[in-house]
Amino acid sequence: MANPESGVALRYMQRFQCIGSACEDNCCCQPWRVTLDQKDYARLKRTLSGSQPEREWFARGCRRSRKREPGRSDYAALQKRRDGACVFLGADQLCAIHATRGAAELPKVCATYPRIVSRLPDRLELAGTLSCPEAARLCLLAEDGVELDEVDPRGWEGLLVHTSVPTRSRDPYVRYFLPVRDAFLGLLAAREYPLASRFFFAACLAQRLGAFFFKRAPPFQGARLFRELTRFRTPSTLARLDRRLASREAPAGLPFALVQQILVAALTLRPAPRFAALLEQVYAPYLREESPVAGLGRGARTLLGGELWEDYRARRDRWERRLGDRIALYLGNYAANYWMKECYTGAPDLLTHCLRLQVRVAMLRFLLFEHPAIRAVVGDDAPERGERPLLDRIVVEVIYSFSRAIEHTPAFLHGVHKVLRRNGIRRLDHAVQLLKF
Ligand code: SF4
Repeated sequence: MANPESGVALRYMQRFQCIGSACEDNCCCQPWRVTLDQKDYARLKRTLSGSQPEREWFARGCRRSRKREPGRSDYAALQKRRDGACVFLGADQLCAIHATRGAAELPKVCATYPRIVSRLPDRLELAGTLSCPEAARLCLLAEDGVELDEVDPRGWEGLLVHTSVPTRSRDPYVRYFLPVRDAFLGLLAAREYPLASRFFFAACLAQRLGAFFFKRAPPFQGARLFRELTRFRTPSTLARLDRRLASREAPAGLPFALVQQILVAALTLRPAPRFAALLEQVYAPYLREESPVAGLGRGARTLLGGELWEDYRARRDRWERRLGDRIALYLGNYAANYWMKECYTGAPDLLTHCLRLQVRVAMLRFLLFEHPAIRAVVGDDAPERGERPLLDRIVVEVIYSFSRAIEHTPAFLHGVHKVLRRNGIRRLDHAVQLLKF
């Protein structure tokens, strides 16, 4: 990476440090494919060439891909032990390359995780993936976790760049990336309003811009765009939208059905182990086993949807009553991180980008309130003080497990987008139903 002049970073990622052997779910033990480009491969080979045992260690731990073109990012891959952990992971749960040779010798994928670096025309940006439990903790639980600060980006030279927004693009959807993305971050940060209202502001702005601002849109006057962005910075506009949301009915049937379609289908995909275990626990009381057909193994399972909906609603309302501000902090920080790490240009238009976030948040709310440890809490008598640490712990577990599934199991993410397309989820009223779920 060339040495850039300026950088910005989310505050929680400035605080991040891998906690190594203290981590509850070490990334080096995941069944993820860790690839090396040719430079990584050559450096590691050189590093581990001092003795015959080292050379054998390298040969066991690193294998060239069948396709060997020099420019490929998957020129080689680290090998896994039988238990799925990386060959270079030591008995102390620390990386042996890092421990014995230093961080500078790590492959770029390992040195970068869980950092997400984006290159914008005038700066580099640092966000993170919440699939790392420590990153999730720092992001979700701190009031100032998603504040943005100017930082010196020297030191990021060896990291992978996740996304590059080109300096000059003919497509206005890309060219105006920064002011548009910042406008959405500003709306999410308007904490004087409830989180649902902030999501609504973002969806309304996305809808208004959708008339002329989308991928490969025909040319338009930039003044039109900036007029809309300014309108959504005006307190009276936000106050009017807040009142409008309060008066809107939002039937829960559609979001409930979407969440179940996606998550029940995910049960069959066997995504990340922790997430698969979480889904099994969440659905265990609500899936009735049909009698197995002879010779065909386990029978089909029927979801007791009515019971599940009633239980979910009661539990959600209870926790919102008692710790609603804390829940808004988690999900507001999750949303800001989403806008920072996932370029909206990956979606055909801004409302689609908003809806993809809203359906994730709906799934997270469902998984949080249906988590067995949350289900075990009943009644309103216990002091809120005692419940907050529990909720903090469970939200971290739910969000890092979910992020592992959605970011490391491509079939799961494709499944989410497919369900949205199949159900025709593309309108503002869909966003309203999802954000009130
Ligand atoms: S998941 Fe995060 S905290 Fe845990 S070992 Fe990996 S980088 Fe470190």
